[in-house]
Amino acid sequence: MSEFLTIGEPVVTFMSKDADASLVDTINYFKLLGGAELNVAIGVQRLGHTTEYVSRLGADPLGGYAKKQILEHGVGTTFVTEDADNWTGFQLKQMVTTGDPQTFNYRTGSAAAHLSADVLDDVKLDDVKIAHMSGIFPALSETSNQAFRHLMDRLVAADKLITFDPNLRPALWNDDARMIREINEFAKSADIILPGMNEGKILMGSEDPKDIADFYLNQSDRTKVVIVKVGPAGAYVQTRDAEGFMVPGFKVNNVVDTVGAGDGFALGVITALLEDKSLRSAAMRGNAVGALQVQTPGDNDGYPTPEQLKAFYEAEGVSED
Ligand code: ATP
Repeated sequence: MSEFLTIGEPVVTFMSKDADASLVDTINYFKLLGGAELNVAIGVQRLGHTTEYVSRLGADPLGGYAKKQILEHGVGTTFVTEDADNWTGFQLKQMVTTGDPQTFNYRTGSAAAHLSADVLDDVKLDDVKIAHMSGIFPALSETSNQAFRHLMDRLVAADKLITFDPNLRPALWNDDARMIREINEFAKSADIILPGMNEGKILMGSEDPKDIADFYLNQSDRTKVVIVKVGPAGAYVQTRDAEGFMVPGFKVNNVVDTVGAGDGFALGVITALLEDKSLRSAAMRGNAVGALQVQTPGDNDGYPTPEQLKAFYEAEGVSED
């Protein structure tokens, strides 16, 4: 079993080849694989750690493609099961020269949405050092919601270190009040919470990083650290017993696509903690991976190898402690 575990839905993405064309008009696409939690697993593996991904794929060509890709990235597939009755989820994604791309999801009733709690009892947790949970998976269906809760309960019972990214997807929840209530409830089980500034506004009515951090630190004794992502400005780190501090982001001149930056941030933090780095270094690595990712079109192609991370730090004149 691996040091890192996550659960999620891989999303096959058909990305427009026609820059800035609407999804209605685009006729040329290329195919790639994303999915927030899978992105994190791919990046953790690329930085030299062992990973396991829990998911469910359709017995269809897109499921076959996803499985092949996951294996090529070296991410563990012991708990990636096949569903003969339901299809693999996919999305259409715009290619944009500036700003956030338009996306359209075809994932309602997907194979992953049928991943049920009972299969999670087979998932061995003994070697897991960090489990990354995100708010997307419980939004897929009632079945996935129950599965997510079951895995969270098992992780808490086994006293594993849990990182949690709210990853708000209102279109999947279809009920904002429920989304807010459940995401904040899940956060209570997490040791480290990684919200975005904009998410704070929805989840507790403030985009001030300090308010966001205080909210989560006050609502659960289990939560020890909150790191708020503040876009190009970097990240704000707060623990229970010390003053919060900013870790500045890296300057990027050529932003191609911002999708995957938040996942890049998470995997930077996670790998640094797996290597016993300080929280400041963990946030700096999160900023570094986020900055590298926004310079590439795919969802995970900017994530670095250890050598690429080292070269980036050298070019920036910074080092971890
Ligand atoms: P998303 O969910 O869209 O991936 P997010 O809201 O979770 O994003 P962001 O704050 O947008 O997270 O980005 C995560 C991190 O990536 C930031 O904290 C920052 O370190 C880095 N980052 C994002 N955008 C830029 C940018 N334009 N230039 C430099 N670094 C960036």
